[in-house]
Amino acid sequence: MPAGTSRRIVADVKCYFCGHVSGQIVGERNQRLRLSNFVPRPGYEGPPLKPGTRLRCERCGGPVFLEDASSSVPSRAVSEALKRRNGGGDSKAA
Ligand SMILES: [Zn+2]
Repeated sequence: MPAGTSRRIVADVKCYFCGHVSGQIVGERNQRLRLSNFVPRPGYEGPPLKPGTRLRCERCGGPVFLEDASSSVPSRAVSEALKRRNGGGDSKAA
């Protein structure tokens, strides 16, 4: 078992109105929906996300909810975001 593995979840950010998935939230269980955890889907064309902004459907601006997707394979974007969060290339120049 790899060390430092936390209870990580991946959830689709899905629209209540049209069902469009704007991206995914990568975080931990019990965490609230946070923009800093939002990973836009490839080709995301919604408004830029700023602190204090509410996450909205990219397509219709409707309210979104999280649909647990941790059982599915994370998209490449998510994997890369996680890699970055983990420090990316953490090999120290000796
Ligand atoms: Zn929508």
